[in-house]
Amino acid sequence: MSESKRLFFAIELPAPLQRKIVRWRAEHFPSEAGRPVAAANMHLTLAFLGDVSAEKQRALASMAGRISQPGFTLNLDDAGQWLRSRVVWLGTRQPPRGVLQLANMLRAQAARSGCYQSPQPFHPHITLLRDAGQAVAIPPPGFHWSFSVKEFALYESVFAKGRTRYTPLQRWSLGDAIRNSDEV
Ligand code: ATP
Ligand code: MG
Repeated sequence: MSESKRLFFAIELPAPLQRKIVRWRAEHFPSEAGRPVAAANMHLTLAFLGDVSAEKQRALASMAGRISQPGFTLNLDDAGQWLRSRVVWLGTRQPPRGVLQLANMLRAQAARSGCYQSPQPFHPHITLLRDAGQAVAIPPPGFHWSFSVKEFALYESVFAKGRTRYTPLQRWSLGDAIRNSDEV
């Protein structure tokens, strides 16, 4: 019997943007505010799959490969804290239709494959701090933090030696971006 893996679909952040965000975080949040997510781990989750068998992984990957939609631009102009989940996050005031479409599609496919999907609406965000249980002051995010999203990936999450690491297992390209009226 093959082992299961802890998987999720996500958008990878370009390394220079990860570094800029980490610098901004270091300047604006005291160390006691929460547990910082490592730069290389910063991502935007599209659909969380949980523990998945090899067989189910193949089915999910094959469905993901059939997704055909254009890329889009994400403009990180919002930040906040969810005390309930104890995270500080970066996000976007007006998510482009593309990110919602992509996440909804992946989440629907995941649900059809028997991966539990939270009934809560999808809020695209990048987690910056975890275990942030006390309210902290949230500064406005840095300027010009937009990046164009041309692909998405299936990630494995591995917890070992006291830390969580994500490894991209497979990537899929999005089509050429078209300018939507709801994109900046
Ligand atoms: P750790 O839990 O080890 O501190 P982590 O939360 O980053 O680190 P995972 O729990 O493997 O690692 O989660 C991987 C990604 O999936 C993260 O973006 C996380 O926020 C998201 N995620 C985890 N559990 C759920 C869930 N039940 N519903 C929705 N998204 C989830
Ligand atoms: Mg977790």
